[in-house]
Amino acid sequence: MKIKKITAKKLKLELIEPFTVAIGTISYTETVIVKLETESGLIGYGEGSGVEFVTGELADSIVQAINYLSPYIYDINVYEIAHIHKIMDSKLVGNGASKAAIDLAVYDVLSKAAQLPLYKYLGGAVNHIKADMTVGLDTPENMAKEAYRIKKNHFSHIKIKAGANVKDDIETIIKIREAVGNDIHLKVDANQGWCVTDAIKIIKVYESFGVDAVEQPVPAWDIEGLKYIRNRSSVKIMADESCFTAKDAIKLIKQEAVDMINIKLMKCGGIYPALAINTIAENANVRCMLGCMMESKIAIAAGCALAAATENIEIADLDSFRYYLPLENIQGDFVISHDNIILPDTFGIGLSLKDM
Ligand code: MG
Repeated sequence: MKIKKITAKKLKLELIEPFTVAIGTISYTETVIVKLETESGLIGYGEGSGVEFVTGELADSIVQAINYLSPYIYDINVYEIAHIHKIMDSKLVGNGASKAAIDLAVYDVLSKAAQLPLYKYLGGAVNHIKADMTVGLDTPENMAKEAYRIKKNHFSHIKIKAGANVKDDIETIIKIREAVGNDIHLKVDANQGWCVTDAIKIIKVYESFGVDAVEQPVPAWDIEGLKYIRNRSSVKIMADESCFTAKDAIKLIKQEAVDMINIKLMKCGGIYPALAINTIAENANVRCMLGCMMESKIAIAAGCALAAATENIEIADLDSFRYYLPLENIQGDFVISHDNIILPDTFGIGLSLKDM
């Protein structure tokens, strides 16, 4: 079943509420949807969503990268997924989100051809996953209010953003624990915001407030720093920005620098490389989380399918779609029941874009 045509299209995602990030206040984001056509007439959909300060990709560059890569994989059989990745990696370094868009579209076709929903095609037995929700950076008081609101919506895992300043990062966790009680899992994501000394100081406090894990306490390049913190912490240390590829995972595991890895389809280039990272981690007794960038429900559904199919991916941090206004031109959907995401039993990813 040869690939005949790949089309990439930008899609504007309007946020329910504007939010403030490092570069200013934004009211929308842009993602890229891919339509992959095969000689048999089967069509697959994928999505690439970059965050410029993490993956180095913008929506326009993703479209350009997909248009650049596509001709190299025309006339290749979709079943040759390893070969497709080898070609993409030989033609373009990095650009995980662009490659993920193509990879997801290939997996959509593969699972449609097998007449299976993607989670079953990937070997999964259950059609649902537990997902967390994230509390964004704000004052400690407002973050505690938001955590309480999430708990009231029956979530069992909350992720809390940190990394702005030491005092607030400590105060926030004390206030959140007060607000939500002890029977809820808390993770903190510092997004590279601490130095080693501050991280140790902050995590010491977190230990007595029952924080499960701290994600990316120090800058991505500081693997020794991760290890140093891990050796002095009973809170699990998770790599996010330090781990894009399977090679990064091997390096982190060899150096015994982390307890967990946050896999993101948009960092590593899709399901095929994500499975490789998870296999390496699983065999080294390192558990994984599946995270996301700011993608729409199409890539989120693919991420859910991967998380549902893999035991070692123990939690899904897949909440970007909750911040967007519903899109009328997306066909298909998954069911949300509080912190459970229930996947459709239609073949493939189960979601696609109309008018493409
Ligand atoms: Mg993170």
